[in-house]
Amino acid sequence: MTTTIRFILGDQLSRDISSLADIGGDDVVLMCEVAEEAGYVPHHKKKIALVFSAMRHFAEELRRSDIRVDYRDYDESLASFTEALRDAVERHGADRVVVTEAAEYRVLEMQKDWARDLCVEVELRPDDRFIATQREFADWADGRKELRMEFFYREMRRKTGHLIAADGGPEGGDWNFDKDNREALPDNIAIPERPTYTVDDTTREVLDLVEARFADHPGDLERFTYPVTRRQALHYLNWFVDEALPCFGTYQDAMRQGEALLFHSHLSALINCGLLGARECCERAEAAYRDGEAPLNAVEGFIRQIIGWREFIRGIYWHQMPGYGARNALEAKRDLPDFFWTGDTQMNCLRQSITETLENAYAHHIQRLMVIGNFALLAGLDPKQVQDWYLAIYHDAYEWVEMPNVVGMILYADAGLVASKPYAASGAYIHRMSDYCENCRFAVTKKNGPKACPFNYLYWDFIGRNRERFAGNRRMGMIDRTLQRMSDDKRDAIRDDAARFFRALSKGEV
Ligand SMILES: Cc1cc2nc3c(=O)[nH]c(=O)nc-3n(C[C@H](O)[C@H](O)[C@H](O)COP(=O)(O)OP(=O)(O)OC[C@H]3O[C@@H](n4cnc5c(N)ncnc54)[C@H](O)[C@@H]3O)c2cc1C
Ligand code: SF4
Repeated sequence: MTTTIRFILGDQLSRDISSLADIGGDDVVLMCEVAEEAGYVPHHKKKIALVFSAMRHFAEELRRSDIRVDYRDYDESLASFTEALRDAVERHGADRVVVTEAAEYRVLEMQKDWARDLCVEVELRPDDRFIATQREFADWADGRKELRMEFFYREMRRKTGHLIAADGGPEGGDWNFDKDNREALPDNIAIPERPTYTVDDTTREVLDLVEARFADHPGDLERFTYPVTRRQALHYLNWFVDEALPCFGTYQDAMRQGEALLFHSHLSALINCGLLGARECCERAEAAYRDGEAPLNAVEGFIRQIIGWREFIRGIYWHQMPGYGARNALEAKRDLPDFFWTGDTQMNCLRQSITETLENAYAHHIQRLMVIGNFALLAGLDPKQVQDWYLAIYHDAYEWVEMPNVVGMILYADAGLVASKPYAASGAYIHRMSDYCENCRFAVTKKNGPKACPFNYLYWDFIGRNRERFAGNRRMGMIDRTLQRMSDDKRDAIRDDAARFFRALSKGEV
C-alpha cells in the first residue's frame, strides 16, 4: 500500500486548501513547528503564539473529521520543512507528497527541490485562495509602463463581481470612494468594544512554550485574546461586519492616542494564516451593504483593501522576486534606531504607534504607513533593516505581503513600482488625522528649531536630499519647486535642523 503525505504549512490553515482537496482515508496530514521558520527573524511572541495555537487547533479539527494527522510540536532539532518532511516520509514509508505552493519565494524554492532531495513524487498545487493567479497578474502587468493598484483593482472587481451594478458598471457609479474615507475622528464617537477569546488548554501550552523558548523575542504574551480557531475567526468577522464596518470607511485614516483598533477589521492575521478566506470576508461585507447595514464607502473601502491592495501586493511580490528585497533606489543606509524595539522616543506619534505595536503585534495601516513608515522614509533607514523589523513585529507579517509594503509603499526603494510618489508627509498630516501632537514635546506648528516637529524639517530635507532622484517625477517636481522658492536662510535652517536631529538619533537621544 502507498502512503501520501499532505503537507500543511502554518499559513495554510484552510479546509479548502488545494492540498487537501481529494484527501483519502490512508493519507497523512503532516504539520510541524520548525525552528527555521520560527526564528529566521525575531518574530514577536504573540505572532509565534498565534500561528502555533492556530496550527494546533487546525490539527485537532482535522482529527475530529477522522483525518490522520502527524503533528510535530516545536523542537529545536526539527530544523527546517525539508528535514521534517524527510523524517515523515521515512516514518510513514510515503512515496508521494501533496502540498500547496508556499506563499513565500524562499519556501517555494525549497519545495521545488523536495522531489529530487527526498526521492518521492511531489505534487505542488497552486494556492487558489488568492483571487488572481500569478499568471493573471503577469499578463496584466506585462507591457504596462506603470503598475497602479487602482486599475488592477477594477479587473478584480469585474472578476469577482463584487459591487458590480446591474448595468455592469461599478455600484454607486464610482470604482473608488476613497475621497469619503479621510475624516478625522470626532471627539464624541464611541469605539466599539472587541470580543475576546478565552485561552484554552491548547493555547496555554503554546503560551508556555513561547515564553520558555522565545524569551528573547520582542513583545509579551499579556492579554492574548485573539481568535485561534476557525469558529472564533468567523465570529470575529461577523462581529466586525456588524459593529465596526459601518464606520470603517469614513475613519479609515484616523488615529487616536490609546485606541489601537478603532474601526479596523483586525482580520489580516486570520486571513493570512488561512483561518478566514479573502473571498468570504468580502462576501460578508457586500451582504451587509446589500442589506442596508453598512454604507457603500465603507464596504467598497474594505473590499478594495482585500481584492485590490492585498492581491496587488502579492502580484508585485511574485512579479519582482527574487531580488525585490534588495532594491534601494534612494540609497538609504541609516541604521534602524533602537527605539523601534522599545518605543522610547520623545516623538509622541512614533512612541504611541511603536508601543502599541510592541504590545499587540499590530498597528493599523495609517500608523504603519504614515507614522512609522513615513519616519523610516524621511530618515533614510536601511531598507533591509526596516523589512526585518516589519516582518518580525506584526502578527500578520509574511514576506510576500510585508516586502512590497515596505520596499514599495513606504520606502520608495523600488523607484515607484508600487507608489506613484513617495508617501512622505510633514507633521501637519499626522496632526490632522490624530490627537498625537497634543501630547508631544515637539510643536507641530513650528517648522524649525529644537522645539519644531522633526517631521516638518525632515520632510523638506528629504525632498532636498533626493531632488535629482525625483527629477523625472512630475508630482515631486512641484514639491521641489516649493523648496527652491524658499529663502537660502530657510533652506539652511532645514539642513541644520536635520543634521542636528540625525546626530542626536545616532546617539540614541531622540
Ligand atoms: C509598511 C507596511 C507593512 C505592512 N505589512 C503587512 C503585513 O506584513 N501583513 C499584512 O497583512 N499587511 C501588511 N500591511 C498592510 C496593512 O497595513 C495591514 O494589512 C492592516 O493594517 C491590517 O490590519 P486590519 O486587518 O485591521 O486591516 P483593515 O484596515 O481592516 O483592512 C482590511 C484588510 O485589507 C487587507 N489590506 C489592507 N491594506 C493592505 C496592504 N497594503 N497590503 C496587503 N493587504 C492589505 C488586509 O488583509 C486587511 O486585513 C502593511 C502595510 C504597511 C504600510
Ligand atoms: S508634533 Fe510631530 S513628532 Fe510630535 S506627535 Fe505631532 S507629528 Fe509626531
